[in-house]
Amino acid sequence: MATKRVAIIPGDGIGPEIMDATISILEATGFRPEWVFLEGGLGALERGLPALPPETIATVREIGVALKGPTTTPIGGGHQSANVQLRKALDLFANVRPAKTLPGLQGPFANKNLDLIIVRENTEDLYAGIEFQPHPDMAQAVKVITRPGSARLVRYGFEMAREQKRRRVTAVHKANIMKLTDGMFLEEFYRAAADYPELQADDIIVDNCCMQLVTRPESFDVLVTENLYGDIVSDLCAGLVGGLGLAPGANIGVNCAVFEAVHGSAPDIAGQGVANPTALLLSSVMMLRHLGYHEQADRISGSVLRVCADGKCLTVDLGGKASTDEYKVEIIRRASESVVG
Ligand code: NAD
Repeated sequence: MATKRVAIIPGDGIGPEIMDATISILEATGFRPEWVFLEGGLGALERGLPALPPETIATVREIGVALKGPTTTPIGGGHQSANVQLRKALDLFANVRPAKTLPGLQGPFANKNLDLIIVRENTEDLYAGIEFQPHPDMAQAVKVITRPGSARLVRYGFEMAREQKRRRVTAVHKANIMKLTDGMFLEEFYRAAADYPELQADDIIVDNCCMQLVTRPESFDVLVTENLYGDIVSDLCAGLVGGLGLAPGANIGVNCAVFEAVHGSAPDIAGQGVANPTALLLSSVMMLRHLGYHEQADRISGSVLRVCADGKCLTVDLGGKASTDEYKVEIIRRASESVVG
């Protein structure tokens, strides 16, 4: 296959460490595009650039595909999230976050064999960033839900479910309280559902959804939802399958896709060489499939399955003792093993 270009935003905190490991693994399986390194996040700001430099946006738009490490956003003040800016600037409207049980890993749901996908709207809702303070003792945020924004998101969810031969698509909402905004989202959900008769389409209120996710998560399949609910529910689902270190994600737009882990920059463990690169690595597997490199994607996901099932070389977050580097070496070893048999 022709050499591709892939934009790389290493990000902050553990970002550069897990990105190094991921790139080494990708290259070891034969995927060697031109990596185009770009600035973004707190690091960019510290080097005197905007948190999301215009050149980064323009280059990702031109290349059409990026692998991104987590970026740090200060709480309560400071710069606007580079993530939110990037998703809006490139109109990456669908955030796809699979949550799948890996063999051998411990946890309360280890025996459940979960395989969920959260499809989260990525550009609207309370993340529209419209906040104001009309009075020193009052602050307001505007929740923006549009009909076209809801329609394209739910349709993307149904298309993905059809392509992956899923059985059920569930809309997650709070339309009993937010009758206009979430009501519109739900209307568009059922309008789209009519075109996918082979899929069971239903809906659930977000609080009940959270309760059911921790009591009988195996009953869910594909969840489509708005931005805020999707953010929270996808972290919950990451917890169900072993934690943030394992949860990958893809931000999909019409002409552009940015692949990144669900987790943040983990400043508490940055620079210690102990971060788990699996979530970013599995995000890169989603990227390989998006680009049509299925053989390399199979090798890496197969290797992750074998290394987790073995349980001998796990990172600290999964109860093991392996460093990021040791885990990387083991993933590469088991990935090449699958090539010969
Ligand atoms: P976090 O996801 O960074 O960390 C939560 C906990 O999970 C921490 O204890 C951390 O050590 C652990 N953890 C996360 N990823 C791990 C990994 N790969 N291996 C091992 N342990 C891991 O969440 P936070 O602490 O709330 O956020 C830190 C920063 O990240 C904030 O500035 C936040 O805004 C940012 N953030 C960025 C993104 C993104 O860039 N996509 C997403 C979420 C949060």
